Amino acid sequence: MSLDITTLVKKYDTPLYVYDFNNITNRYEELKGAFDGKKSLVAYAVKSNSNLAVIRHLAKLGAGADCVSIGEVHRALKAGVKKYRIIFSGVGKKDSEIREALQQDILLINLESEDEMKRVEMIANEMDVEARISIRVNPNVDPQTHPYISTGLHENKFGVSLDMAKRMYIYAKKSEHLNPVGIHFHIGSQLTELAPISEACEIVADLVRSLKAINIDIKFFDVGGGLGVVYNNETTIKPKDYAHAITQKIKGLDVTILSEPGRYMMANSGIFLTKVLYEKQNGEKRFVIVDGAMNDLIRPSLYNAYHKIEAVQKEGETTLADVVGPVCESGDFLGKNVALPPLNHNDILVVHSAGAYGFTMSSNYNTRGRSAEVAILDGKDYLIRERESFEDQIRLEEACDISWQE
Ligand SMILES: *Cc1c(COP(=O)(O)O)cnc(C)c1O
Repeated sequence: MSLDITTLVKKYDTPLYVYDFNNITNRYEELKGAFDGKKSLVAYAVKSNSNLAVIRHLAKLGAGADCVSIGEVHRALKAGVKKYRIIFSGVGKKDSEIREALQQDILLINLESEDEMKRVEMIANEMDVEARISIRVNPNVDPQTHPYISTGLHENKFGVSLDMAKRMYIYAKKSEHLNPVGIHFHIGSQLTELAPISEACEIVADLVRSLKAINIDIKFFDVGGGLGVVYNNETTIKPKDYAHAITQKIKGLDVTILSEPGRYMMANSGIFLTKVLYEKQNGEKRFVIVDGAMNDLIRPSLYNAYHKIEAVQKEGETTLADVVGPVCESGDFLGKNVALPPLNHNDILVVHSAGAYGFTMSSNYNTRGRSAEVAILDGKDYLIRERESFEDQIRLEEACDISWQE
């Protein structure tokens, strides 16, 4: 990022998320470009970073949105994503969410169970509309990623088996209120191997062919998200290879390829900035205590995820330290055994690759206001979310009548 980090911290304070919007553009263009010559739609997975400015930026580039709650659908619409580029996924949609999705007339509702299909049919019937649906297939392939972010095995809660999917398509085809136009799978996140993706594509493409044979015409082939990124020293899948692997497997099918990248788009488009409060030594162990914590960036605590951490403009011999926050949990750390030079109060640490599943997973635990967020575009900085104040945090409690306690 071209802007000076010290200047940003002076202006906005810490903890702070900073996103490089030019990098988001590059990521989008590279993936979209990889599908050149094919009908495709890149539907950004909003849950990875749902700041309106981020979605608006991607919408302007032509991206769609993959949403997992009606709140995300509203964010996408508000940010200017065209309704015909919005997909609504997720294992547990409420009636009210289904109703609104149908009202908004978005591209697709992704079904994850037979029960859900019946529910969507019933609601579409009440509203006298036809629901465009796709079915999430669980191809039972091992994505070779962290068990918490693996989703494509039968032991995971996502999607339905191939047999069930076929029965559901046959049912939907006959229904007056369901229009089965899509098929979907998403086998996991932070995928760094192409083979499981290829395998899943092949399995799902075969199902599409067998549906075609019984006059069920699938128009949208949704390969989900999951493209891995470099946090440490991973080798990742190149968008060109990814697109090639997919198109190889769907030869002869006239479909629009949907992809739903989240992490790929955002992880390395963002950093998290935090200031050093104190240093201490507990026996042999060195701790660097910072003003950012697990409530701001939970990935290290939740998945034991690695984020590279560096000190800004500090020299000196490095020793290993745990970088921990002020939250009252032993699991509150941003990094373990991080090589850091001697540090002083107010020195700045950069936590890298924090643009995806960073801010969106943050909370008010310990009554900590959530971080501010800043966008950098063409060398200029823009505040895209104010730092949360104490008043922001208690607003909904203050709105309640407390006279019964007086
Ligand atoms: C989470 C999710 C994504 C995005 O996953 P990434 O690993 O961030 O690319 C895409 N599709 C679905 C259905 C998801 O649940």
